[in-house]
Amino acid sequence: MIKIFLATGNKNKIKEISAILPENKFKVETFSDRPDMPQTVEDGDTLRENSEKKALACARYFKMPALADDTGLEVEFLGGAPGVYSARWAGEGCSYDDNNLKMLNEMSGVPKEKRKARFVCCITLAYPDGTLFSFEGSTEGYISEEKLGKEGFGYDPLFYIPEYGLTYAQMPQELKNKISHRAKALNLFARHVEKYGI
Ligand code: IMP
Repeated sequence: MIKIFLATGNKNKIKEISAILPENKFKVETFSDRPDMPQTVEDGDTLRENSEKKALACARYFKMPALADDTGLEVEFLGGAPGVYSARWAGEGCSYDDNNLKMLNEMSGVPKEKRKARFVCCITLAYPDGTLFSFEGSTEGYISEEKLGKEGFGYDPLFYIPEYGLTYAQMPQELKNKISHRAKALNLFARHVEKYGI
């Protein structure tokens, strides 16, 4: 069994990552209940920089390999925004709802064919000696005209995938976890670990 330590306190990400990685091979352990877990400032210019920073801070602090996830939603009509700024797009301390409302306002009146978007996830495996491996996954969709569905978190109610006729938030969690940006990045990570170990 391979132990994976997650450098995140985000319960939704922990739940998804635990569900995506094959449970007969990986045991996901979290630091989220450690109040001393390093809080990094996500001030990188790219998802990769931020995920490297989070993973490395935890790997060094806990003196063991650590895994981090940084994710962004890129909307074509908005020139790729909010991208790396997805978390605090509506302002410091904003809620998921604030971000979704801002998205609906910014995209108000934009026709369906111009509402293309993609979710990108960067997963980084960091070692205390500074060795880093990053894996990227993305999934394409559209920004819906209203919030739809109750599952998931973040921008899920607005991220519509035409192949399924559903937003991420309308999908059973098992389906999101099969096709998501996060699943694709984690599958690359799992393949790396199978090949090279941890
Ligand atoms: P971060 O990776 O924690 O910086 O997240 C960036 C922003 O994207 C936050 O507002 C998250 O809520 C949102 N986010 C991250 N992953 C997902 C996802 O799988 N679905 C919807 N929103 C997400």
